[in-house]
Amino acid sequence: MQRTFLMVKPDGVKRGLIGEIMKRFEQKGFTLLNAELMTVDRAKAENHYFEHQDKPFFGELVNFITSGPVFAMVWEGENIIEVSRTMIGKTSPLEALPGTIRGDFACTKEENVIHGSDSLLSAEREIANFFDLLSIRSRDEDYPYDER
Ligand code: UDP
Repeated sequence: MQRTFLMVKPDGVKRGLIGEIMKRFEQKGFTLLNAELMTVDRAKAENHYFEHQDKPFFGELVNFITSGPVFAMVWEGENIIEVSRTMIGKTSPLEALPGTIRGDFACTKEENVIHGSDSLLSAEREIANFFDLLSIRSRDEDYPYDER
């Protein structure tokens, strides 16, 4: 069982895609552990994308992520990191296949609707950057999702 950090980016929130995106992960059978609509300050955005700090697009990327509310989520499921990345699709709209979230909804590689952690280590770091770890429910608790 793995946990991952998924985030509907400001373009996805503006375009009203939160419900559609959550539906896909729910229908896949993954468990939602926490979610919050929030604005991201520059420090949090720079921390989230620190791996890209030397890339030419870093400044624009931080501007974009802080430009409006995002919908940050923690999900749990078997192999969720790899499976959610497949469901999200490739970064480039030229490569994102139909049926994936980006393939169906994104037209540019900059504003591409959704972020998903790419490794266990990133997931742990990204969840801690966005959520108070104590606020994340555990499946061991009396949690309605477990009754499906
Ligand atoms: N990005 C960008 N320009 C680029 C490549 C990436 O603005 O040329 C942005 C885009 O929003 C992407 C994010 O930076 O989702 C992180 O890039 P990464 O290569 O990690 O892609 P991802 O893991 O999101 O597919």
